[in-house]
Amino acid sequence: MAMITYAQARSAFLGAARLADATLNEYPNPERGPEGEALAIDVACLGDPNTAQKLVLISGVHGVEGYAGSMIPTDLIGRLLPSEGLEIVLIHAVNPHGMAWFRRVTEEGVDLNRNFVDFDQPLPANPAFDEQLAKWLTPSAAQKSTADAALMRWMKSDMPTMRAAVAGGQYRFPAAPFFGGFAPTWARANFETILAKHVGAARTVCIIAFHTGLGDGGIGQFIGSHTARAKEREIERFIWGEEYVESGEAGTISYIISGDLPDGVRRQLSGASVIAVAHEFGTLPEMSVLEALRIDHAAAVAKARDFACMKSIYDAFFVCDERWKTTVIKQAREGVERALTWFERQP
Ligand SMILES: [Zn+2]
Repeated sequence: MAMITYAQARSAFLGAARLADATLNEYPNPERGPEGEALAIDVACLGDPNTAQKLVLISGVHGVEGYAGSMIPTDLIGRLLPSEGLEIVLIHAVNPHGMAWFRRVTEEGVDLNRNFVDFDQPLPANPAFDEQLAKWLTPSAAQKSTADAALMRWMKSDMPTMRAAVAGGQYRFPAAPFFGGFAPTWARANFETILAKHVGAARTVCIIAFHTGLGDGGIGQFIGSHTARAKEREIERFIWGEEYVESGEAGTISYIISGDLPDGVRRQLSGASVIAVAHEFGTLPEMSVLEALRIDHAAAVAKARDFACMKSIYDAFFVCDERWKTTVIKQAREGVERALTWFERQP
């Protein structure tokens, strides 16, 4: 089946936002998409902008995950009626370059959800990545089968430790996956501008960022951040109950991530109570997703990202199946409804 393009997803979202009478703002990206199309972060707001309570829905932190991520707010926006005292802010394609080019990373080659570290401080270390994983994940052609066998051995003996080391974030190998960057990216800088303008003065902020690629196919989980304070964690568990997973919680798919988006939000809005989760939907088996990422990064280094490469990464993060899409939309609606219900009960 044909792939959706960024321009198509964007235009569907903007159309739905206009029908819903949302206020629209555009943050243009200086780069272009594969067909020369313009790129931007679009922000659609519903309700009173001067409220102390904000619900923020974010798609496309990991570019290519934005195809599922865009489908969700496009479905939701016409059904959302903010109650008095609440504004709903929908941020579409916060990493528009990655989305348009079917990559998880930004135009700088950075994993945006690892980029929100304080760059004035020493960067987080990831010894296992630095010593072994970097060469296993991006091996030369001659080393590929040795690297595959080593990854497989580690996966079989200790998947949680391997997952955390592979995907927790690394700050030394710009060509490898899960690279958090050497500086704030364009997407981070613009997200911070958006946050200051549209959310800045709020006292209570609830953020749901839509992600795909982790967990069982079609199953959604709400994953918290290790930066959540005890009270915020308690509220997150209260809102999303059984589907809520703490960052790094034993026996779950979750692992600790350095420099994640909630980390940045909590630093920027230091006076606010921040409820922040990734609503993460499973697609393919974990090793297939990782393999698609390895192929993508190898192709990017070789400047050989052809259609087959883009299609394989698109398929790893967006399942082209009506049942998958329907169940994802249903769970996303429920997750947002639970957040809205919680807001209604706040004084
Ligand atoms: Zn993601």
